[in-house]
Amino acid sequence: MIKVRGYSARDAQSPLAPFDFERRDPGPRDVQIEILYCGICHSDLHQSRNDWSNSLYPMVPGHEIVGRVVSVGAQVRKLKAGDFAGVGCMVDSCRQCSACKENLEQYCEMGATWTYNAKERGSERLTFGGYSEQIVVDEHFVVNIPAGLDLKGAAPLLCAGITTYSPLRHWNVGVGQKVGVIGLGGLGHMGVKFAKALGARVVMITTSPEKGKDARRLGADEVLLSRDPAMMAQHARSFDFLLNTIPVGHDVNPYLALLKRDKTMVLVGVLTELEPPVRGASVIFGRRNLTGSGIGGMAETQEMIDFCAQHGIVSDIEIVPIQAVNEAYDRLVKNDVKYRFVIDMGSLKGSA
Ligand code: NAP
Ligand code: ZN
Ligand code: ZN
Repeated sequence: MIKVRGYSARDAQSPLAPFDFERRDPGPRDVQIEILYCGICHSDLHQSRNDWSNSLYPMVPGHEIVGRVVSVGAQVRKLKAGDFAGVGCMVDSCRQCSACKENLEQYCEMGATWTYNAKERGSERLTFGGYSEQIVVDEHFVVNIPAGLDLKGAAPLLCAGITTYSPLRHWNVGVGQKVGVIGLGGLGHMGVKFAKALGARVVMITTSPEKGKDARRLGADEVLLSRDPAMMAQHARSFDFLLNTIPVGHDVNPYLALLKRDKTMVLVGVLTELEPPVRGASVIFGRRNLTGSGIGGMAETQEMIDFCAQHGIVSDIEIVPIQAVNEAYDRLVKNDVKYRFVIDMGSLKGSA
């Protein structure tokens, strides 16, 4: 077993604190990675604090992982020692069901194995995430980080990146379309960059008027203030696609009213109830679609990373040491991050 230091949540109330644990010795198909950077996703906060009522403790969060390969098993072909590698939200799946066979491991019918807050397949051992020194992962769930991509800014691509890229691709967003990204946070700012790179006309839909300038810098052509009913009315029935990243239950009805006939709004942010409920009329009139999307499969994650390398896209980040993770969580709740915290895992060395 490999001894590893990390930071863990012990329960839903306590702050994250140093935690020593063990990882499995690498098997023939495993890649052992020294973690250099790990993004802080809003999901880390939801799960540390048991917002989804399914948390397993102790929990080492973190699923936006970038690092350097330390060693690989004898059967590993994709990577070698010294390469830069990424690990996202999943570390395993059944590999046999129809979803897995179609490269949609995130929808594995037997349940994908999440990078943390899960149990290893066929075992009671908890999985532990990226707020730690090292990780050992089957090569199928590791992506290559091409040379030239800034490593710190690449970490958030592993969740915020793929979660926004996948629906934009699935619903064929591109030239000639008016696309709205709702919520300018970690996911939203990647959504704006991708929608722009795919050629769409991008509207940032935000509750925060002060973010307008940034939204334009990130690539938005226009900014729509969702709390301004007159502006919302001006944009009614005009959008070809909406990507909704709001992290909490909210009223989706005013957003659905923005869609043209037959067009789609995809939820990626909220996992709990929508409050108030969706009105039937919001989808009946205009035959509109309301759906959702979860991260992306491994092949698509590599495609997204390669797309980023080609288009020079990374996340806008604020680097923090691991010792500041609790403060970063508090700032995330207050909507005070531009636009992703990334932990410099080197700060873990020598920490008490
Ligand atoms: P984030 O950085 O906190 O950004 C969320 C943004 O939503 C905020 O910046 C804010 O933007 C807006 N917002 C926040 N509270 C709001 C409210 N009450 N009403 C309206 N707008 C609000 O979070 P994130 O890391 O992007 O994650 C977003 C959500 O996606 C989280 O719930 C996370 O768990 C989930 N997630 C899902 C997947 C998936 O596979 N589907 C993957 C990763 C994360 P404005 O200031 O611009 O309004
Ligand atoms: Zn995430
Ligand atoms: Zn499967």
